[in-house]
Formats: sequence, C-alpha cells, structure tokens
Amino acid sequence: MYSRAAMSATILIVEDEFAVARGIQYALQQEGYQVAVAKSGEEGLDFATNQAPDLVVLDVRLPGMDGFEVLRRLRASGSKAPVLVLTARDDEVDKVIGLELGADDYLTKPFGLRELMSRIKALLRRAYGDLSDAAGGRVIRHGDLVIDLERRRVQRGDRRISLTPTEFEILRHLASRPGRVYTRSELLELLRDYEALDQDEKTINVHVSHLRDKIEDDPAMPAFVMTVRGVGYAFAER
Ligand code: CA
Repeated sequence: MYSRAAMSATILIVEDEFAVARGIQYALQQEGYQVAVAKSGEEGLDFATNQAPDLVVLDVRLPGMDGFEVLRRLRASGSKAPVLVLTARDDEVDKVIGLELGADDYLTKPFGLRELMSRIKALLRRAYGDLSDAAGGRVIRHGDLVIDLERRRVQRGDRRISLTPTEFEILRHLASRPGRVYTRSELLELLRDYEALDQDEKTINVHVSHLRDKIEDDPAMPAFVMTVRGVGYAFAER
C-alpha cells in the first residue's frame, strides 16, 4: 500500500456521503497525510482494527452499523487511536458524550475544513507528542508506537520510552522493514559496528527481551517485535 518507513500519519475517514468524505480526504492529502476512506461502519471497523490508522474521523450517521456502534466496537477491540466524531445534531453530541464511548473530540456538521484540520492536528499532537508532523520525516509509526530515527526517540502515545543504544538499533532495523525476518546472526552482524557485543547469538535474545519489556503491553504476546520460530525476529506488519 505504502512504505512504512519514513511515512506520514494515516487517517481513516468513515463517511458514506461521498462529497463530505472527498472534501476531507482532499484537505488531508494536501497537508501530507495518508488517507483511507470507508463508506460504511463495517468497512471502517474492519480497516481500523486491521490497519491501525493513527486517527479516525467517524461520521455518526452511516448505513448499517452507525458511528456509535463502530466506536464502541473499536474501543472494545483495544484500539486507542484518537477518534473525531462527526455529528449532525446536538442530540447526537449529547449521545457521544453521554455514552462515554471514548470519542476524543467531535464536530457538528456543517463544519469548515480549516476547523476540522486544526482539531485533527491537535488530536495527533495530544496522542503522539511533537512527532506528529504530517510530513513524518524519518519517523516510523505502528499503532501508537512512534520511532523517531533522527532524534533516536521512541514513544508509546505520549509516553517516552528509554532504550539502550543496542535496543534502539534492533528496533530501528526491524521496524524499517516490517515483515522482513532477521536472523539472530544477521542482527548480531548489523549491531557489531555499533557496540562490541558478545559473539553469542543468544545475546540478541536478551536484548530483544529487554526491548519487549519496554515497548510491548504484554512481552509474552508481542504486538511489535515478533518471534519467527526457528529463524529470528520480524517487526509486525500492519
Ligand atoms: Ca453520513
């Protein structure tokens, strides 16, 4: 679909009205964001759970599953992506707030694209700190994990994660090519220039284990750094 290395933030628009969706899509693309459009709640939920966009713009009124239900299920699936809900009436706003579905912001139609854009930027800043430039630069994102290659900084949401140089290098190599399997000896070779490491490939296991302790919610069930049994490690594909 697109290169994940040095990529910009991906925004999902869930809206069945073509003109509205197209207008938002165009405005976001002009700002350098990657944009996906889903025309139904089901399609939107499917994309949001499988592709982990950085932010979701979600219309309440959709054919079939409405926006409230999409949001409820999205949060139930564990997604923490910021969601901006588009409403048509005040009573829908009340419902968004009242149901505590986990919307991060809402905007009532009709709204100006400039207003929408500033809300989106604010949400991205809040969720991903100052790494949220649309241009992305040398930043790798996966869900709420943000790896700033130039500043050598790693965040989960707005939480800074402190890695050792070796842990950072392992993560950098793996995350730069999601899905590519690196053997332990390959990683050892890549890291050798960087730090004098033990010759033993088991050293890599120890560093990966420490890395997982820091970046994974559950190191035993990693979502980012995957073990490829009998081969080595790979960064998760979206
Ligand atoms: Ca709609």
